[in-house]
Formats: sequence, C-alpha cells, structure tokens
Amino acid sequence: MTAMDADDARTRLTEERDRLESLRQGFDDLNAESEEASLGELSSVDQHQADVGTETFNRERDLSILENVEAELADIEHAIRRLDDGTYGTCEACGKPIDDARLEAVPAARFCLEDQAVAEREARATGSRE
Ligand SMILES: [Zn+2]
Repeated sequence: MTAMDADDARTRLTEERDRLESLRQGFDDLNAESEEASLGELSSVDQHQADVGTETFNRERDLSILENVEAELADIEHAIRRLDDGTYGTCEACGKPIDDARLEAVPAARFCLEDQAVAEREARATGSRE
C-alpha cells in the first residue's frame, strides 16, 4: 500500500470514528433522558403496562444498535492502530494484502474475503454452542 492510500484510509477511518462517536454520544444522552423519565414514572399512579412494554422494547432495540455502534467503533480503532504500526491492509489471518476494492468498501476490514468467511463461520459455530 502506498503512503497516499494510507493517508486516504486514515482520513476515512477517522471520519467514520467521529461519526460513530457522535452516534454513541447521542445514545448516552437518550439513555440519560429515559432514565429520568422512568424515575418520573415510578411516582405516577396510572402507569400503563403497554407503555412500559413499548419503553422496554425501544430500550432493547437501542441497546442492540448501540452494541453494533460500539463493535464498529472497536474495529475502526483497531484499523487505525494497524495504520500506525504499518500492518493496515494485510489480512490478520494469512498476512496477504487485502483487495483494494474490499478496503474501499470496508475500510476497517481485518481479513481477506476468504478468512472473513472462515471467521464468520467460526463465530456462528461458537454462537450456536451457547
Ligand atoms: Zn487471509
């Protein structure tokens, strides 16, 4: 990978990190608000069960989105560290260069397509044992 490409990758990764961090910040604000709201609800006598259900559903959905955001953020921070130590753009499993097209589509990619497929199969296999 040329220095120009590395700069390009760093710009894209940094921008994506900033975007995800502000997304995460938004969730923090949202959680602070809904905690205040539920504290208010505790003192309310006519609390409807249906509202509580919706609230729980929304919160669980938000949490799973937040988990995705944090996972993506971790991938991107990992990719930036690899840019720093000069290993960015190579597969972590086999050490071969990752396709430019793949890096273009997924700047935080850690594996080549083949090893990505293996990693996903292993992740699914691990998941099913739980
Ligand atoms: Zn590989």
